[in-house]
Amino acid sequence: MAETADLVVVGAGIAGASVGFFAAQRGLRVVVIEQGLPASGASGFTAGYIRCHYANPHEAYFAVESWRMHSHWAEVVGGQSGFRRNGFLFIVPPALAPALAENVALMRQMGVPTEALDAQGVVLAQPFLSPEGIGAAAWEPESGFADPGDSIGSLLAGLRARGGQVRLETGPARLVMAQERVVGVRAGDIDILAPRVVLTAGAATRGLAAQAGVELPVFPMPIGAGLLRRQVAPGSPMPACTIDHTTEQWYRGEIGDDLVIGAGYEDSIGFSAGPEEGDKPFASPTREELVAGAARLLSRMPDLERAMPRGTWVGVDSRTPDGHAIAGPLPGVEGLYVLTGGNGKGFKFGPSMGRTLASVIAGEPFAASPLHPFGLERFTTGQAIRGAHEYAWGSFA
Ligand SMILES: Cc1cc2nc3c(=O)[nH]c(=O)nc-3n(C[C@H](O)[C@H](O)[C@H](O)COP(=O)(O)OP(=O)(O)OC[C@H]3O[C@@H](n4cnc5c(N)ncnc54)[C@H](O)[C@@H]3O)c2cc1C
Repeated sequence: MAETADLVVVGAGIAGASVGFFAAQRGLRVVVIEQGLPASGASGFTAGYIRCHYANPHEAYFAVESWRMHSHWAEVVGGQSGFRRNGFLFIVPPALAPALAENVALMRQMGVPTEALDAQGVVLAQPFLSPEGIGAAAWEPESGFADPGDSIGSLLAGLRARGGQVRLETGPARLVMAQERVVGVRAGDIDILAPRVVLTAGAATRGLAAQAGVELPVFPMPIGAGLLRRQVAPGSPMPACTIDHTTEQWYRGEIGDDLVIGAGYEDSIGFSAGPEEGDKPFASPTREELVAGAARLLSRMPDLERAMPRGTWVGVDSRTPDGHAIAGPLPGVEGLYVLTGGNGKGFKFGPSMGRTLASVIAGEPFAASPLHPFGLERFTTGQAIRGAHEYAWGSFA
């Protein structure tokens, strides 16, 4: 059996839902294929930070665009993304304070409400934190976190309202090729024939691209997290979404005095581990790993001494060799596009990169697009994504 579409999107995480929605908004007949349920990949396990601070202008551009989209979600997409502005704090040791000041200045030029704080300023903004080891911090009071179910659900609802289809629980889709071009996607016993296909399948994008003869440097990236129940006075402020270079830990407040923190798999976030291969399952962090994550944070948040460990989870994101997304047309295969390489930060980039990729798919020239630096060709041309004032730790900056 065969059906037709203008565009088939493989994968209904934040990347696929975003490309699909904005392509449908441009009038394309879109079909989204998802092997499981929406947000059943990394997107469903995200901490959901929506913040702007990045040390290179290319990611900063898309981070700011997405932050603006979440700030006006009802108008831009419809429905809600669950965006909660509990603030974003990016803490660095003294040696990185000059770089941070430069990057805060860059963000301000881009219209982001942000300031550089010293250690005392951090404690004023977040009174439950200790100033120990803090050189400086970037503070974004208007940033926060969004809900993946709300975000992806509203994008897919908007896609359907514009005539698009979302096919769920299809099992793994495959490309349909004819004479070195992609002509559609096979999902179960249905072929959906389309002149354009976009792969937004997380780490599985590598295997799909290989079906078209393209080698994509994308690997599984397990990221562990867990919940701690803090023992704090009723009405205590919710901790901001925080990345703390000095403790090499991330955390944010959750409703009900809980704290979401990184746990287990720290090496994958810090990028000191080698790439993972294949599609083996990854176990959730153990209780001991969650406690170890909390112990690393103790010097920053002393009240964690009384915290109770709760559940943990792992989400498998996609990792690339330079820690940045791969987006755009795949060279040599007409009609085939990708958006993958979340690298532990792709939830925020999904809406803005998805919108820009939809405009490229609709005909805008890729070479002139702000997505161009994220094209696959950078790995052969050597055009690195770099800022003038990079930090040292992992891909998170
Ligand atoms: C614990 C954790 C915390 C994180 N925190 C943040 C954060 O605070 N901020 C941030 O910006 N990012 C964060 N991230 C990263 C972010 O969540 C991911 O980068 C992003 O959600 C990836 O979205 P995606 O759409 O590319 O991939 P996914 O969400 O993995 O979606 C891919 C989809 O493709 C489907 N699929 C795969 N193969 C096929 C196939 N053959 N056929 C059909 N369907 C297929 C999968 O089922 C899946 O639903 C975090 C991730 C984790 C795990």
